[in-house]
Amino acid sequence: MKKIAVAIDGPAAAGKSTVAKQVAEIKGYTYIDTGAMYRAFTLYCLNKGVDCQDHDACVKLIPEVNIELKPGHLVFLNGEDVSREIRLPNVSGNVSYIASYKEIRLALVELQRKMAETSSVIMDGRDIGTYVLPNADVKIFQIASVETRAIRRYDENISKGIPCTLEEIEEDVRKRDYIDSHRDFAPLKPAADSVLLDTSYLNVEQVVEKVIEIIDAKLAEEKDA
Ligand code: C5P
Repeated sequence: MKKIAVAIDGPAAAGKSTVAKQVAEIKGYTYIDTGAMYRAFTLYCLNKGVDCQDHDACVKLIPEVNIELKPGHLVFLNGEDVSREIRLPNVSGNVSYIASYKEIRLALVELQRKMAETSSVIMDGRDIGTYVLPNADVKIFQIASVETRAIRRYDENISKGIPCTLEEIEEDVRKRDYIDSHRDFAPLKPAADSVLLDTSYLNVEQVVEKVIEIIDAKLAEEKDA
């Protein structure tokens, strides 16, 4: 069977990972959460006491960092399970600085491309359709209003026991969107050949259904071509 690559990009807290995980399960693809990788790198800098706005100091840490995504959506940093810590507010508040450093992006993109070599994947992030997998079979750009995204992330954090306020989350989402879309290298933007999917008024099941429809339509088109 042909190896498939699906790219889902979009702004912070648009529900990409929730949807991508379910689609991966239904279609039998491997889910790759690239945001988790930038988060793990950020956690390493914070644990080292390095200022995430200090480009040179952060980039120097590249050789010390080993990030692995394991089955069960687990994220390992230098052999330790950090799946929960990477979602904490301090990591969210600093990750966009780390993700704006070209050297760190190149190191993580290399890993991401390797992961997509061996199996069918659904990969979510900011630059998957534009930079990481420019030849992906299907590219989706998933959006929702800032208010909707903030409420979704707030509910998710509370359900996971991560302390936060709705105001903090909304500010974090706006700040990350700004930094992610204004950086020089591989900024957040829709690929020219992506399908725009506005999820503001859809629930998770409806978004999953739409994504599967888009994938099936694209694959049928490729088959006929
Ligand atoms: O997807 P998530 O919100 O967990 O990503 C955390 C951060 O990682 C984003 O705000 C962005 O700064 C960065 N990121 C990125 N490129 C990706 C995935 C995430 O710059 N492909």
